[in-house]
Amino acid sequence: MTADSSASDQLAARLDGVLARLDDAAERSGRDGRAITLLMATKTRTPQEIATVIEMLRERGREIAVGENRAQEIAKHADPLLADNGVPRHFIGRLQTNKARDVVAFAELIHSVDRTDIADALERRADMAGLVRDVLVQVNTSGEESKGGFAPTLEAVGPILDRLRASEHLRPVGLMTIGANTSDANQVRASLRGLRELRDQAREQCDLPELEQLSMGMSGDLEIAVEEGATIVRVGSAIFGARA
Ligand SMILES: *Cc1c(COP(=O)(O)O)cnc(C)c1O
Repeated sequence: MTADSSASDQLAARLDGVLARLDDAAERSGRDGRAITLLMATKTRTPQEIATVIEMLRERGREIAVGENRAQEIAKHADPLLADNGVPRHFIGRLQTNKARDVVAFAELIHSVDRTDIADALERRADMAGLVRDVLVQVNTSGEESKGGFAPTLEAVGPILDRLRASEHLRPVGLMTIGANTSDANQVRASLRGLRELRDQAREQCDLPELEQLSMGMSGDLEIAVEEGATIVRVGSAIFGARA
């Protein structure tokens, strides 16, 4: 076997493992795994690796998206292997106002609106580019200081949702979180459940029926996230292997 084919066999095996975890968790909670978007977290990966996984997911008929973390890495999607491949492109990383233009140009869904000034910068750049972008509000459901996001309360999230709704070029369509960084599954579940409850509350009390998306769950906690209602899971290392 050539080095290339064994690398792609390994990718396929990891990918099928992830899909089985996702489908099992969906089945346990009476959901359809195929209705949950599998977002590939592509940070540090090469265009070749990303293109290979896209092809495999297409063969398997899955809802997919690619997610970039780093504005500097967006450029790799101009690679001929990835350009115009029709896979929805998302941005999932920490946003900086001076990168808002690149992010708006690249991503049709921006997961990580974690401050008011970011929302304002995205609106300004989307307006200049003549684009309308869907956005998620990032919520810090774990209380960990290293994580960005609004506090997990309606008092904190309501005003940013109102501001986004008033922005002509941004449409708030859901919430995003990074689960608690712990091996205690109960604590992880509590943080992810908190996001769903907050979305339900905000949808009702802010009169935002379009607030549907829940972006939560990564390699380590995707089953819990699916059980708690995730509509998009963001998976990197469980598909591509450990990052260098
Ligand atoms: C890297 C990353 C992921 C995926 O993490 P893995 O543990 O590799 O699955 C998900 N969400 C965000 C915001 C990330 O930066």
